[in-house]
Amino acid sequence: RSGRSAALRARMEERLLGARFRYLNQQLYTGSSRDAARLFRADPAAFHLYHRGFERQVRRWPERPVQRIVRYLRRRPASLVVADFGCGDCTLAASVRNQVHCFDLVPLSPRVTVCDMAEVPLVAESVDVAVFCLALMGTNLQEILGEANRVLKLGGTLIVAEVASRFEDTRAFLKGMAQLGFRIVSKDLSSSYFYLLEFTKTGAARPGPAPGLRLRPCLYKRR
Ligand code: SAH
Repeated sequence: RSGRSAALRARMEERLLGARFRYLNQQLYTGSSRDAARLFRADPAAFHLYHRGFERQVRRWPERPVQRIVRYLRRRPASLVVADFGCGDCTLAASVRNQVHCFDLVPLSPRVTVCDMAEVPLVAESVDVAVFCLALMGTNLQEILGEANRVLKLGGTLIVAEVASRFEDTRAFLKGMAQLGFRIVSKDLSSSYFYLLEFTKTGAARPGPAPGLRLRPCLYKRR
């Protein structure tokens, strides 16, 4: 009997965690990066819960996008300086020889610099590669990607890995990116789970609205 009630309790806890994860996830994708920063500052436990839920989702995928980015960086010089926006547990930094600046809202690892990715503590034109791996969550995409433009050197590389279903109009998105000073170099759409996009910084972000720069929120269904 006690075995059965323990199993029941575990199942209910699991359900509750799943529901909280989906709620947090929805908040992150429907608010600005600043709202996310405020949310996690007020409730660090929510962040850890979010990460457990994130891990459970991504484990179902045949390949983690961060591993593809690791492979990409290993093919390029280790002298390139990298900025990892929304680094999570710092898998990227731990897997390459490059200097990697790791930014996230709460430190899952001592390597993390805690900040909102819309405002990172780096001087202008100081990094060679900027990475957003499943991290373009806030609705203020233009501001966030504008920050990546600011810290990237001219000719530097921007890597974006995002859930495939978030792209509603890829052409419009790429046009918006061009407005922000990023030219597409390669699109890897081979995974049905995520797109891997590589851009080059061609210049400063042009001011004014970039209406194409929109991604659908990534909402998970109840399982
Ligand atoms: N890049 C990692 C983690 C992806 S999960 C990987 O691929 O494994 C998305 C990460 O972005 C989370 O760790 C989340 O906390 C972070 N994030 C979301 N909004 C952020 C913001 N405004 N500023 C900094 N990090 C943010």
